[in-house]
Amino acid sequence: MTSKYDVVVIGAGPAGYVAAIRCAQLGFKTACVEKWHDEKKNPVYGGTCLNVGCIPSKALLDSSHKFVEAQKGFQLHGIKADNVSIDVEAMIARKAKIVGQLTQGVKSLFTANKVEGIAGTGRLLSDKKVLVTKHDGSTEEIAADNVIIAAGSVPINIPPAPIDNETIVDSTGALEFKSVPKRLGVIGAGVIGLELGSVWSRLGAEVTVIEAMDAFLPAVDTQIAKEAQKILTKQGLNIKLGAKVTGTTINKGKAKTVTVTYTDQNGPQEAVFDKLIVAVGRRPLTENLIDEKSGVQLDKRGFVIVDDSCSTPVPGIYAAGDVVRGPMLAHKGMEEGVMVAERIAGKKTQVNYALVPFVIYTHPEIAWVGKTEQQLQEEGREYNVGTFPFSINGRAMAANETEGMVKLLADAKTDRILGCHIIGASAADLVQQIVIAMEFSASAEDIGLTMFAHPALSEALHEAALAANGHAVHMANKRKR
Ligand code: FAD
Ligand code: NAD
Repeated sequence: MTSKYDVVVIGAGPAGYVAAIRCAQLGFKTACVEKWHDEKKNPVYGGTCLNVGCIPSKALLDSSHKFVEAQKGFQLHGIKADNVSIDVEAMIARKAKIVGQLTQGVKSLFTANKVEGIAGTGRLLSDKKVLVTKHDGSTEEIAADNVIIAAGSVPINIPPAPIDNETIVDSTGALEFKSVPKRLGVIGAGVIGLELGSVWSRLGAEVTVIEAMDAFLPAVDTQIAKEAQKILTKQGLNIKLGAKVTGTTINKGKAKTVTVTYTDQNGPQEAVFDKLIVAVGRRPLTENLIDEKSGVQLDKRGFVIVDDSCSTPVPGIYAAGDVVRGPMLAHKGMEEGVMVAERIAGKKTQVNYALVPFVIYTHPEIAWVGKTEQQLQEEGREYNVGTFPFSINGRAMAANETEGMVKLLADAKTDRILGCHIIGASAADLVQQIVIAMEFSASAEDIGLTMFAHPALSEALHEAALAANGHAVHMANKRKR
């Protein structure tokens, strides 16, 4: 007999598990099909984010940052830490423990909210039926009034650098190195390349990042991107821009190495690495996911076609997270999961796609929301700029976190905040204050009139907002008022 649910979710990553929990909270009989499993074939929830993405990468970023601090930062505080060394196995084990705690946490949340987890691979059929292929090969058809597709994404592979999971790895392999490679190559100076390149560089690897584009972080406000390139280069990342990889050869010896050939402005080049990470983007995981009789369609890049509210053209079928258009970010998927669940319940919830915060978790962090200065110029919009460097923020000096700045952009006529761009310690947490302010259509003056605790890094936001109107107190104003 076919089991019948109010809602079936395919995929238990941030988009899927959040959608499933919210659906259950709203009173729907909800099942979530997940193919990720442990060695005992039990389902593992949390998707890319918890298992091989956001969380494990941040665990390694924090461990490796502490290593650098112990080696270099402590001395400035008068703390002597001689003979500091790294135990990679222990670092990786700590990361695995955190992943385990969080994935188990999602399992507990499913139980608490009465979401039924179904282990297996789901495929959407016609009439909102889902075929589940279990791990033992058996199949079951389940039916639902509503289906939410949240199958996520996987790394993109490129023909010149095929992954062998030994010498050439993707982001997942780069979270599992058993020791610090002496020479590490990274293809792609995007978010993953810079975050995981930083991890292994901090632990002692000589890191070369090979990026096809001529511009560094083209999506980031140019002033911040330039500052980031300078700081990351100083930290030891050898960033080669305008470099197109043409091939790789695995060299068999006592330990395997890889020779990478690429062309840049100076012609053909060659470099040898002990490990190579390919981090050139991700693609939606939609092959074999959808029977065309379902009526749901994919675009030419494989994304499920949805409207602004994540509805497909088929009533009762939705898609959220990395399988649909927009940035591939866990928090974007989670908000879409909530939106879809609430829309199924008849609410008019809408994600504000104009205010997605972005963060690159290097040190210092790079974080932004809203428009860049370049976008405002292209739009021909008049704006004011306020910047404030962390080098003159008291708390930043106390913490020896003086690199970077805050940049705030406000409409020249209305003073409404249009964007905020930060490179600095805790930028992820700082930018969130401006995301909230922008959600309430705040002006730079509103931030200027708000009291900020002293001493705090967030005072740089306050001063940048004051500076946008020529009122900064702790810095000479470029703009006079
Ligand atoms: P996923 O997390 O990919 O989950 C999809 C789930 O569906 C998976 O569990 C998969 O097994 C399951 N599934 C797929 N097909 C089927 C099927 N047919 N049947 C059953 N189950 C299926 N984002 C951030 O916001 N911040 C970060 O710091 C960050 N860091 C990252 C670091 C790395 C190294 C990587 C790789 C990604 C990072 N991301 C980060 C991106 C983030 O992980 C993704 O945007 C997010 O996980 C997408 O969520 P999702 O639910 O759409 O898909
Ligand atoms: P990305 O899109 O951020 O960067 C990929 C980079 O590779 C780009 O700069 C691109 O120009 C370059 N590239 C593409 N093809 C190339 C080639 N053949 N040779 C050399 N360079 C090439 O993608 P990513 O770093 O792989 O990350 C994938 C996704 O995961 C991101 O889109 C992001 O949304 C998500 N993610 C987010 C975070 C975060 O929020 N902190 C962290 C990691 C990943």
